[in-house]
Amino acid sequence: MNYRQYMDYDREHLWHPYSSATNPLPAYMVKSCNGVKITLEDGKELIDGMSSWWAAIHGYNNPELNKAAKMQIDTFSHVMFGGLTHKPAIMLAQKILSIVDKSFQKVFFADSGSVAVEVAMKMAIQYFTAQGKKDKTNFITLQKGYHGDTWNAMSVCDPVTGMHSLFGKDLSIRFFISSPNDEGIEELNHIVKENKENVAALILEPIVQGAGGMRFYDAEFLNKAVKICRDNNILVIFDEIATGFGRTGELFAYQHTQVVPDIMCIGKALTGGYLTLSAVLTTNDVAGVISDNYPYAFMHGPTFMANPLACSIATASIDLLLSKDWKKKIKEMERLMKEELSIAENLSQVREVRVLGAIGVVEMKKEVDMSWIENRFVEEGIWVRPFGKLVYIMPPYIIETEDLKFLCRKLLKVVGQC
Ligand SMILES: *Cc1c(COP(=O)(O)O)cnc(C)c1O
Repeated sequence: MNYRQYMDYDREHLWHPYSSATNPLPAYMVKSCNGVKITLEDGKELIDGMSSWWAAIHGYNNPELNKAAKMQIDTFSHVMFGGLTHKPAIMLAQKILSIVDKSFQKVFFADSGSVAVEVAMKMAIQYFTAQGKKDKTNFITLQKGYHGDTWNAMSVCDPVTGMHSLFGKDLSIRFFISSPNDEGIEELNHIVKENKENVAALILEPIVQGAGGMRFYDAEFLNKAVKICRDNNILVIFDEIATGFGRTGELFAYQHTQVVPDIMCIGKALTGGYLTLSAVLTTNDVAGVISDNYPYAFMHGPTFMANPLACSIATASIDLLLSKDWKKKIKEMERLMKEELSIAENLSQVREVRVLGAIGVVEMKKEVDMSWIENRFVEEGIWVRPFGKLVYIMPPYIIETEDLKFLCRKLLKVVGQC
C-alpha cells in the first residue's frame, strides 16, 4: 500500500478517540519518534507537547527503556498472574512502594488507568460490604474531574464534559462538589451529613484536574476534605494517573498536601509511555478488611494483570526518573513556561494562562476549531492537541530549553490567529 492508501484505509475503517467514524478529523501518520520529536510519514518533524497524554515523560525511543523491553521480551512477554508470579512484578511493586508513603503496603496491578479506577472503586465498596455495610456504595467527587472512560470511571467524570447525558439512566448518579475551595468544603460537609451511610469513598484527582477541565487547586482543600472523610468513615481515593511521576513538581501530587489517601491509582507515565499498565495502591487496613471477610478475596483479575514486559519497562522508567535531578528540571520547565506562555494573557482570544510543574495551560474564551488548529500546529512544527477551550502542553521532561521555547512560541503564534 502507498501513503494515500494507508490514509484512506485509516479513514475508512479505523475509529480514533472521541471521533466520528464517517466524517473524522484528519489524523497524521507517524513514521517514527525519537526524544521529543515525532516524525510524520512525509518527513515533517514535530516537537511533542503532549507526552502522548502525560505518559512519555522520557520522550520516545529511549535506549534504557528499549533495553529493558528487549531483555524481558527475550525472557517472556507475558504469563498469567493467577497462581504464578515473577520478578518483573515483584521488583516493580518494591520500587513503587519505596517512593510512596509507608502506609501504602499493597499493590494491585491493572491494565489501564480506567481499569485502575474501576478497581479502586470496587475496593472501596468491598471494604464496606465486607463489614456488613451494604449501603455504602456511592461516591463523592469533584466537578471537572476525569477518571477514564469505562462505566464507573465515567460516572465520576464531570457530568458536562464527561457527557453523562449520552448514556442513559444506568449510569450511576454520584455526589458532585462544584469547586475545590471553601465552598466545596461546605458542600462536602452537607453531602456527608445527609448521605454518609451511602457513601464508600471520595474520589478525586489531587492538585491538578486533567482532561475534565485542566483546573489547578490548593492543597488546603484536600487537607480539609480528607479530614472530613476520615471523621465520617468514608475512604479517600486519589487518582494520580495523570499527576504521578513528577508532573506537578512533586513525585506524586498528594505530596503537596498534609494527607495521604487510603487508595491511590497510578498509570500513564508508569511505563514512560511504552505500554499500558496501571496500579492501585492501598493500605494494610483496606486490604485486610477485604481479605478477612467473605469472599476472602478481592474480586478482580485482568487477563494481562502485571504484564511482565510492562512491569520491566516501568521499573526501568522509574529508575531513569530517579537517576536524574527531575525536580530541578520540572522547576526549570515551570519557570520557562510561565515566562513564555504568560505573554498570551495579552491576547484578546485568551481567558487565562496557568502553569504548574511541567503543565502549561492556555484557556481560550471560545472553543477552538480543531481541524484548523491541529493543521496549524503541524504546519508550525509542534504537536499539541487541545480540547474545548483548553490549549495545553505537558512535554516530555527531557525537552531542552530551545525546544521548549520553540513549542511555547509556536503555540502562542497559532493561538493568536484563532
Ligand atoms: C487518563 C486518565 C485516566 C484513564 O486512563 P486510561 O489509561 O486512559 O484508561 C484516569 N484518570 C486520570 C486522572 C487520567 O488522566
